[in-house]
Amino acid sequence: MTQDAIERAWDALVGTARRTVTDGLVVGTSGNVSARVGDLVLVTPSGVPYDRLTPADTVAVDLDGTQVRGRLAPTSELPMHLEIYRRTTARAVVHTHAVHATAASTLVTELPPIHYMAAALGGPVRVAPYALYGTPDLAAHMMRALDDRTGCLLRNHGTVTYGDTLDQAYDRTAQLEWMCRVWLTATSAPGHTPSLLSPAELHEAATKLSGYGQPH
Ligand SMILES: [Zn+2]
Repeated sequence: MTQDAIERAWDALVGTARRTVTDGLVVGTSGNVSARVGDLVLVTPSGVPYDRLTPADTVAVDLDGTQVRGRLAPTSELPMHLEIYRRTTARAVVHTHAVHATAASTLVTELPPIHYMAAALGGPVRVAPYALYGTPDLAAHMMRALDDRTGCLLRNHGTVTYGDTLDQAYDRTAQLEWMCRVWLTATSAPGHTPSLLSPAELHEAATKLSGYGQPH
């Protein structure tokens, strides 16, 4: 892997991490972003505000989690990121504590299919059972919730999504947070219960989304 490729990937990663803050998906340093470059995983460091990250702060680990680049410690959520890269074809992972998604994670074990964009994440979004942050237990719960999905909620914690690119992983997080917001808004209307999509309707949307590439 060339130095140039790593520098470009770090630049894109920091840009995505900053966007999670400016778009209100992350407060302070409470989320983390990673990208796979060859056999390396670039990952945001623990506890450093994203607007202060420079190319000199590049943190890279191998798939076993051994740090091969950088002096700052990788995010404490590294086990979740690595587990996704080991078991899927993901090239990027975004983790946030987005407010509506985190709120929804405390109410249900699966986000009710309130909108067809659930199909863009592979189907109704599951909620992984709670485990302490940064633990292999949490990574294992998350992987089960991600079965046939590209995103899930973590109970009393937040969101995880992955994709082929940083932009795709980021967009999936934004869509997931938006869907949780729609569901919370609909369920808070007194005396009403929101209508939900059937499995057949979601399947139909998934087929159309995969055919057109443009969600409309
Ligand atoms: Zn977290």
